[in-house]
Amino acid sequence: MIKIKELSKVYLTPSQKITALDNVSLTVEKGEIFGIIGLSGAGKSTLIRCINMLEKPTMGSIVVDGQEITSLAKRELRTARQKIGMIFQHFNLLSSRTVFANVMFPLEIAKVPRPEAARRARELLELVGLADKEGAFPSQLSGGQKQRVGIARALANGPKLLLSDEATSALDPQTTRSILKLLRDINRKFNLTILLITHDMNVIKEICDRVAVIDNSHIVEVGEVLKVFASP
Ligand code: ADP
Ligand code: ADP
Repeated sequence: MIKIKELSKVYLTPSQKITALDNVSLTVEKGEIFGIIGLSGAGKSTLIRCINMLEKPTMGSIVVDGQEITSLAKRELRTARQKIGMIFQHFNLLSSRTVFANVMFPLEIAKVPRPEAARRARELLELVGLADKEGAFPSQLSGGQKQRVGIARALANGPKLLLSDEATSALDPQTTRSILKLLRDINRKFNLTILLITHDMNVIKEICDRVAVIDNSHIVEVGEVLKVFASP
């Protein structure tokens, strides 16, 4: 589902060159929940932003669902992005829109006809357990509920890949577990590939099949979670 080859990203600032990713190669299989763990500043966000086409790599290639994405023109980017859903640490909901309208948003951008879009939005809110909250505004929801809306929105256009950027880092342990369980259920139900970045080992142990450890812009270890984090 994702094939990354010899990826590098160098940020040029007025005063220095910062190498955020240095010759990173990685393959994520279809249907996998793959975790990337590393300390702050290791390069996790840069990697996920490259996969989501928000950042252009300096060198290397990224193939998502059979398509090379590092050299797409603007118009092709929009179509390619619809294959990818993303959830965020701070949810990134639109505060002036209701829960229902937040989930409708990506469907409107994709120009899905209104009745079909509304049906799909309601189906997704049912799936994430928020059918009774469709008229609420984000400020009326708990953190866990906001992330459930974020998940419903990310799934709206039927993505092939779900990217998660520290999606549970702002949540308490119990809410974290319920969100991770939801992600696991969605992974199984749709055979949806999930790539998540986190600094929290518990998240990796709870739902990931495989993990890559990133340190100082390098991947230093990749493997099955039980092998990489085997107790001595
Ligand atoms: P992580 O997500 O693991 O915390 P990041 O990918 O955010 O790591 O950062 C990796 C390195 O790249 C850090 O040294 C960070 O300061 C630098 N960096 C990230 N984004 C930018 C940017 N837009 N401009 C310059 N440097 C950046
Ligand atoms: P979750 O596990 O989904 O995060 P919580 O256990 O935090 O949910 O919240 C429990 C209940 O409290 C929810 O059903 C929600 O309706 C209600 N609630 C939480 N925050 C607010 C708020 N700011 N305004 C109104 N109701 C709230």
